[in-house]
Amino acid sequence: KVGKKVDKREAEVRLQQLKKQLNKYNEQYHVHDAPEVSDVVYDQLFHELLALEEAFPSLVTDDSPSTRIGGKPLKAFTKVHHRVPMLSLGNAFSSQTLREFDERIRHALEEDVAYACELKFDGLAVSLTYEEGRLIRGATRGDGTTGEDITRNLKTITDIPLVLRQPVSIEVRGEAYMPKKAFVALNEARLLAEEAPFMNPRNAAAGSLRQLDPKAVAKRKLAFFAYGLVGEGLGAPISQYERLRYLHQLGFRVNKEAARCETIDDVISYVEKQQVARHELPYEIDGVVVKVDALPQQERLGFTARSPRWAIAFKFPAEEVTTTLQAIELNV
Ligand code: NAD
Repeated sequence: KVGKKVDKREAEVRLQQLKKQLNKYNEQYHVHDAPEVSDVVYDQLFHELLALEEAFPSLVTDDSPSTRIGGKPLKAFTKVHHRVPMLSLGNAFSSQTLREFDERIRHALEEDVAYACELKFDGLAVSLTYEEGRLIRGATRGDGTTGEDITRNLKTITDIPLVLRQPVSIEVRGEAYMPKKAFVALNEARLLAEEAPFMNPRNAAAGSLRQLDPKAVAKRKLAFFAYGLVGEGLGAPISQYERLRYLHQLGFRVNKEAARCETIDDVISYVEKQQVARHELPYEIDGVVVKVDALPQQERLGFTARSPRWAIAFKFPAEEVTTTLQAIELNV
């Protein structure tokens, strides 16, 4: 919500600034894999924009970052149309927002809900299409509707099965990421070669998958977790949590930390536990994704233009900010 009272004229001026700034940051982050500001700074500005647009809906324009997902696909790769859009997720930064999310959902459904809680891997979303059990295409999210065909690069990731254990025709979604160890080794090598280091593992993973030479990608030691299945997978279960098991049976790597929570209190405990445990993980996460577990309930809740109504991402406070503050303190 907007902290101080602003009139429409002031809101319009501020929105102009925010749109220009956020559109620039979006392009740097999603298209060029070279962010100039931290995610916390981006998220604060984005929330200011959302609050102003909520207060003055007539000021929402087509070029607002609130109406878009990700960035434009790069010209270097063939474009892929996503039959089912690859959306963004609504964010929560406090347990209060999680409780409000739960209330909204129970109010809309008028029945009990259980949640599938998963780690939010800090990599990039990819879509994998299998025909009769064979991988035929792998694509980036792009702007949500159109992504880039990076099949040859994705085939270098050994976690991604080329042939499934059953001859099903399905689209699987998941996160390609760079493990912490591979990230550190890559940056050390880059510094030795006098090349600019990557800012974070997400950035390194995205940059790696956009290289034009698959042999160079293979050297980057990327990894993959499957977390979703699109449409009617033949015989696929109708619970998100069970679907993770199904994906595992098909031959995918799925994350062992996923849990099914019956109440929002359990969800909040899960979030608190993972916020501490994250430091022990061999890969980066930036939060937890909470999804309504039952697919029929997900269908009833549907989507907004940007994100599903049945899921929310709880974002951990960023570590890089703490580091910067500590560095400043040391300098004083
Ligand atoms: P998001 O990152 O908040 O959430 C959506 C993404 O979560 C999905 O695309 C998927 O890749 C990922 N994800 C990870 N684990 C998942 C799981 N288990 N289940 C489902 N999805 C999972 O939204 P977004 O639209 O991808 O990106 C917006 C965020 O990017 C912002 O909140 C901001 O932090 C960051 N950003 C930063 C800058 C910058 O300049 N620093 C610019 C633009 C965006």
